[in-house]
Amino acid sequence: RAKSAGGNRFEFADPEADARAISRHRLTNALPAALDNGEFFIEYQPLVRLEDGSVGGAEALVRWLHPQQGVVGPDRFIPLAERTGLIVPLGRWVLEQAVRQATEWEGATRVNVNLSPCQLTDPGLVRDTARILEDAGLPPQALCLEITETALVGAEDEVLRPLRTLCEMGVDIALDDFGTGYSNLAGLRRLPVSELKLDRSFTRGIRTSPADPVDVKIVEGVVRLARTLGLSVTVEGVETAAQAERLRKLGCDTAQGWYYARPGPPERLHQLALADAC
Ligand code: C2E
Ligand code: MG
Ligand code: MG
Ligand code: MG
Repeated sequence: RAKSAGGNRFEFADPEADARAISRHRLTNALPAALDNGEFFIEYQPLVRLEDGSVGGAEALVRWLHPQQGVVGPDRFIPLAERTGLIVPLGRWVLEQAVRQATEWEGATRVNVNLSPCQLTDPGLVRDTARILEDAGLPPQALCLEITETALVGAEDEVLRPLRTLCEMGVDIALDDFGTGYSNLAGLRRLPVSELKLDRSFTRGIRTSPADPVDVKIVEGVVRLARTLGLSVTVEGVETAAQAERLRKLGCDTAQGWYYARPGPPERLHQLALADAC
């Protein structure tokens, strides 16, 4: 058995699992040079106000243009970057790019940037963010940092401190993939967040006709909770017009999804925002 093989654990393992492990290992090793060589790029996906369909901003989503493998998605390399600590300089780079980009959009008002839990323990986070905003001349109110609910459930005060400071500076904080982390009410109250981003898994059932009654109840519950706590609700994964309409009626504020636009180059958002201003 693999375990008794001692030093080489992979010796008798499943060849597909081996291939995946080797691929992860290669990607991990290639990450630092990829950052130096400018192989990362950012796509933006519009955030749409359900009330009137206008574009209120966009989420920055990082991709890796790997010289051999083509475009590699964040789900494949962010966990690797988190493990090696490269997420700190990579995350800073994304923030820099996205903030600079946001100053070039006239119609859209803000940009959302994902923050990894590892960045919360980086002592430079607050200072770097303040400097990036100042250098670009972007008001802090135009930046929203998204952090997953799982990363903040049960977080120590030390972890929350930089978020509180950012919040006091005027930066918005959104709880990403909300609903997957089992937050409780008391826990939510102590978090410096102003927005809940309901995970895609809960809006999927709103797409079907009739809509999944349990998912409808969940959305209703989250909207009520958000109202109670004075937070806004963004829904992910909106793929059809009917789904958007239902979610609007259920009281959600903002939507994001393929129905409006897939993530794309920054110029596209400019066009969307301008079209909407007409
Ligand atoms: P997320 O922050 O929850 O981002 C939303 C994901 O849903 C994106 O996947 C987006 O392309 C996808 N999506 C948007 N609309 C739809 C839709 O209508 N249907 C479906 N099926 N999917 C939709 P993506 O771009 O692959 O990003 C995956 C995750 O990677 C993100 O999830 C985020 O957690 C992470 N990520 C992306 N960029 C960064 C970054 O710069 N830093 C960090 N730390 N994480 C990032
Ligand atoms: Mg996000
Ligand atoms: Mg999300
Ligand atoms: Mg997600």
